[in-house]
Amino acid sequence: MYIKIDHKTITLLLKKKVIALERFVYADNSATTAVSQSVMEAMLPYYREHYGNPSSLYSVGRDAKKAVETAREDIARCFNAEPGEIFFTSGGSESDNWAIKGAAHELAKKGKKHIISSRFEHHAVLHSLDALKKEGFEITLLEVHSDGIVRPEELEAAIRDDTALVTIMYANNEIGTIQPIPELAAVCKKHKVLFHTDAVQAVGNVPIDVKAQGIDLMSFTGHKIHGPKGCGALYIRRGVRLQNLIDGGAQERSRRAGTENTAGIVGLAAAVKEATKDIPGRVARLTKLRDKLIAGASKIDRSHLNGHPTKRMAGNFNMCFEGIEGESLLLSLDLKGVCGSSGSACTSGSLDPSHVLLSLGMPHEIAHGSLRLTLSDENTEEDVDYILEVLPPIVERLRSMSPLWERIQKENRPPFQFQDR
Ligand SMILES: *Cc1c(COP(=O)(O)O)cnc(C)c1O
Repeated sequence: MYIKIDHKTITLLLKKKVIALERFVYADNSATTAVSQSVMEAMLPYYREHYGNPSSLYSVGRDAKKAVETAREDIARCFNAEPGEIFFTSGGSESDNWAIKGAAHELAKKGKKHIISSRFEHHAVLHSLDALKKEGFEITLLEVHSDGIVRPEELEAAIRDDTALVTIMYANNEIGTIQPIPELAAVCKKHKVLFHTDAVQAVGNVPIDVKAQGIDLMSFTGHKIHGPKGCGALYIRRGVRLQNLIDGGAQERSRRAGTENTAGIVGLAAAVKEATKDIPGRVARLTKLRDKLIAGASKIDRSHLNGHPTKRMAGNFNMCFEGIEGESLLLSLDLKGVCGSSGSACTSGSLDPSHVLLSLGMPHEIAHGSLRLTLSDENTEEDVDYILEVLPPIVERLRSMSPLWERIQKENRPPFQFQDR
């Protein structure tokens, strides 16, 4: 049965909240992003027309080879690198594994078996380090301060004669904090230690100049910047020796075997170009949206922003709400069409609170009530308004059913406060 109602009545019903419009807000862009229209269009010809193997000599192969080399030049230009310093991989995880294991195994030959990193790295880094530890490498993980920033003087104090490598991420994927990479790299240069950074989240958020910033090795990936999944790259400064991770054919100058993912590589280059075209513009736009989100959510009683308020990625919101479970919050938001995450995508689904929040010195109980919302160019101010409309009543409802919240109220506990070490 259909009832015909006029526009005025609909507006009134919407206003009175008798009916609701369905909305979908994707706010999990640090987990992955939608492939942009222009990236898609750049990639498509390499599936059906220029599908040849870049190693083949006939023309469809040569077309593909040319596209791969153009992509390499384009990417190099975006980071002030040389084309010969860009190596294509299957993504951020492979690049991290290659940089860390490849450098460690190379430098172990000179008796250097100590590696420095930080507590809040991505698991691709932390688990690579765990694997090396089992082989007899010594690992030092720097403490992260409650603001989520690593201190260069603490890095310097940790460097030893046998330190082979330092690996510190450029921007944290959960709390979005941006590390003082040029300063950290300068410390490494002074002590002649190799410096790797996982820049997966930083691309498009911070201008990256590998030469000026003293970076020896840098990982990045397509799918966090509106490019395809399964394609990334590792920047290897000329002269830096790494052992291979993937052995086989002579692709990537015999340093990374496997038939090139031509369409993926073309898409990666298109995404990197797009992401680095107007960084100040994007940062200004997203900072405005993010700060509106933070200001709105901060009106919720006993809410806390995680990570430095300004030294963070423009689109990153990460807050804790005392007395609730992040998982229930996510499910309730999902029912309203909002996609967010608690902790990182890799840890959601498990009941352990995020290792990143714990590294800031946050107790388990509070870390459990965390919500990460990450915005991209595809989000609008209406998205933010909608989130701020649905979030407070959800938190209120979850708290009304929470034994933890009841306990907090009964004990008249002071709100949680970060204590820096
Ligand atoms: C997503 C992510 C990775 C992993 O990249 P993949 O391309 O998914 O393998 C590594 N590091 C950081 C910081 C990330 O956010």
